[in-house]
Amino acid sequence: MDGLAERLTAVRARIERASERARRDPARILLLAVTKIFPAEAIQDAYALGLREFGENYVQEFEGKAPAVSGLAGARFHLIGHLQSNKAAKAAELFQVVQTVDSAKLARRLNEAGRALDVMLEVKLSEEESKSGADPGGVPALIEAVRACPNLRLRGLMTMPPWSEDPEAPRGFFRSLRELAETHGLAELSMGMSNDLETAIEEGSTCVRVGTALFGKRRKQLATDEHR
Ligand SMILES: *Cc1c(COP(=O)(O)O)cnc(C)c1O
Repeated sequence: MDGLAERLTAVRARIERASERARRDPARILLLAVTKIFPAEAIQDAYALGLREFGENYVQEFEGKAPAVSGLAGARFHLIGHLQSNKAAKAAELFQVVQTVDSAKLARRLNEAGRALDVMLEVKLSEEESKSGADPGGVPALIEAVRACPNLRLRGLMTMPPWSEDPEAPRGFFRSLRELAETHGLAELSMGMSNDLETAIEEGSTCVRVGTALFGKRRKQLATDEHR
């Protein structure tokens, strides 16, 4: 993929500068390469440049790419898109991490799949219409439900604030997520994307999910056609 090496260098430099400003260790911030809509070659190219953790949004889309990337030793795949309970078994088969657990029912279904999975709870911090995620008030019960599942290891919280061009706009949401995680003793915070990863790192992110800044613009139409 043309220019991926340069873009990766630039993203890593952004992570390092933000970490420095926040007096944090950049090694504690996972760069999750978001490859949705891009073909399996994007994952292979990023892997060749040293990336090992990949984010995908759709079970069905990743099922198509999985055969091409299943031999990449040490690669881990995170589901970062909304997951319906009826696709939980398939998701548990394809992914090592599910960042979007937002109901006790989904947690139970993932657990029943019988595979060890790292999970994060997706929290909805804004009233924005179609966003998935658990309400902050429901988080304590959800934590209890996940902890009752022997196959699930609860790592932390994830959120996706309303899109804004202003990288400062999500700061309050990031802070709320960190406070919620602290309250419950959860170490990992998946927050920050191409546009606002600096803000997220300043607010404590341990996983930035970066697509556009690494791979370029996505062809949005493809996504809607495929997942209708
Ligand atoms: C697409 C997506 C990303 C990456 O967004 P970019 O702005 O392209 O970096 C991160 N997280 C989630 C949940 C996404 O759906």
